[in-house]
Amino acid sequence: MDFEQLSTERPTLSRKDPEQVLHEVFGYETFRPLQGDIIHEVVNGGDALVLMPTGGGKSLCYQVPALVRPGTAVVISPLIALMQDQVAALNELGVRAAFLNSTMDFAQARDTENALMTGELDLLYCAPERLIQPRTIDLLHNASISLFAIDEAHCVSQWGHDFRSDYLELSLLAEQFPGVPRIALTATADERTRKEIAERLSLTSARHFVSGFDRPNIQYRISPKVNANKQLLDFIKAEHDGDCGIVYCLSRNKVDATARMLADKGYTALPYHAGLNATERARNQERFLREDGVIVVATIAFGMGIDKPDVRFVAHLDLPKSLEAYYQETGRAGRDGKPSTAWMVYGLQDVIKLRQMLEASMGNDHFKRVERQKLDAMLGLCEVTSCRRQVLLRYFGDVLEEACGNCDTCLNPPDTWDGTVAVQKALSCVFRTGQRYGVTYLIDVLRGSENERILQFGHDKVSTYGIGTELSVNEWKSVFRQLVANGYLRADPEGYGSLQLTEQCRPLLKGKEPIQLRKDPAPVKSSGRNASGGARAKISEQITDQAGWEALRACRKSLAEQQGVPPYVIFHDTTLFDMLERRPTTLSELAEVNGVGAAKLEKYGEIILQALADLNRN
Ligand code: ADP
Ligand code: ZN
Repeated sequence: MDFEQLSTERPTLSRKDPEQVLHEVFGYETFRPLQGDIIHEVVNGGDALVLMPTGGGKSLCYQVPALVRPGTAVVISPLIALMQDQVAALNELGVRAAFLNSTMDFAQARDTENALMTGELDLLYCAPERLIQPRTIDLLHNASISLFAIDEAHCVSQWGHDFRSDYLELSLLAEQFPGVPRIALTATADERTRKEIAERLSLTSARHFVSGFDRPNIQYRISPKVNANKQLLDFIKAEHDGDCGIVYCLSRNKVDATARMLADKGYTALPYHAGLNATERARNQERFLREDGVIVVATIAFGMGIDKPDVRFVAHLDLPKSLEAYYQETGRAGRDGKPSTAWMVYGLQDVIKLRQMLEASMGNDHFKRVERQKLDAMLGLCEVTSCRRQVLLRYFGDVLEEACGNCDTCLNPPDTWDGTVAVQKALSCVFRTGQRYGVTYLIDVLRGSENERILQFGHDKVSTYGIGTELSVNEWKSVFRQLVANGYLRADPEGYGSLQLTEQCRPLLKGKEPIQLRKDPAPVKSSGRNASGGARAKISEQITDQAGWEALRACRKSLAEQQGVPPYVIFHDTTLFDMLERRPTTLSELAEVNGVGAAKLEKYGEIILQALADLNRN
């Protein structure tokens, strides 16, 4: 096994202070905000509950203490794929890590268990269902455990979207290992969920560390859906040609169709959803991790635990159910801190569909009320005319004092218009036609269309027939979308998309309350230039030596293939970029590059120096 081989090769790391571990093992210069405090707390035996956005650097919060405290750190992680990647990445750094999960055979598991007993492991990753088996607990009692890290801790919350019943049993760690520090980590939890995590995991005396939720490198953009496929293609072509990205759709059929559409246009686009068999899913995920420039088109089934650092865009062709889901999915972009885009199109049909799904879903009234609030918050983000980031962060209890300047509403502020009269016309048209028709029909009536159904039903005789010629079909759609989004109209829960009035719309119907509507900005053809004004250009734009860049990437790729790991496990793009900038000629100069630690220096240092020297010669 990898770690055994490594443990003999590797110069034994004496227990050091956290800063030293950060430099020597991980090759990083400084801790990020909060990392230092959290690590200090855990190293000194305290419990911690950590809330940090995706890409914030949660792993180091337990990996560094694991290397500082004596004994083995046990990391509980719900995702087997993620576990394997993390262990591979740690082994690359010369850290003695291994995992225990259901994918391994008896002999492999026994090897790992032996390594644990003889103190040869710094970290042991374990699936929750495996951990709670009495046999595993016995094993841990007989080993020396430095700490427990509970990753994706929100899985313990029943109201969350990733509930795992095994997580509930993790409270036994507090009873059985009272002296061992525990650190629970999550990227998604509002205050209520945080309290729930603390209670259920018996972490009531743990210190809470809540890091700002902002992901400043992600540009948020939401546009009205006109022709989704074309909009998506234009976006990718103009801004992310050749980049790696994720496209989310709600249904499997749409995933397949979209992946095919992108492939037809020459992109490497792979589908991912629960309808594919496990082998195919694993293969597509693998290609996404290992190849450059792959786009995965997926239902929400894809992505949890994907910690690929260089995902440059996340696109939504359908509206997520909540801001939690939106934030988690968009958060998969730009973990490396480089400019990335969260892009979404949404339209009236999305709103109707989600509202219907919610009303038709099983679940008690309380559950539905919570879900309704969540959907309302999501729609609020879509319709807002001020900074989107401020709305998003406020929802997670974070305050951003000033508008961000890096979302579409900041960059291209939408106009509003006085919609009082239009809204009155729309609502009374719904009323006059008996609250039985969908939006297309209603718009036809408003615009005085002579289509057969209207004549047949006699709706050319109602008082609202033909009173709305001043607005185009798309403008009317925008009016209806905002009425549904803001709860003035609801879609019939039985289906068919017919719209009905709600209690809330009374004052509007009577024209007693003025209403401002959002004017949907005309779809602008993006210029392809970085929209934040070039303040933070893409890596690819900063590269002056294209040939050198390609050569280093090729070198990294062959190392990755030899090691059987994804390229970014060898070195991140940012590290390659730094190498190209600094052009180190000696090992000690190379060690200065951000992201080059002792183990990688030893393993790849000479090869990289050689590649750089070849560049200089050419
Ligand atoms: P999370 O689990 O919070 O989503 P990760 O732990 O995967 O985030 O970290 C995100 C990225 O940031 C990783 O590529 C990691 O190597 C990098 N990183 C974390 N801490 C630091 C640091 N102090 N300096 C430089 N890079 C860091
Ligand atoms: Zn903004």
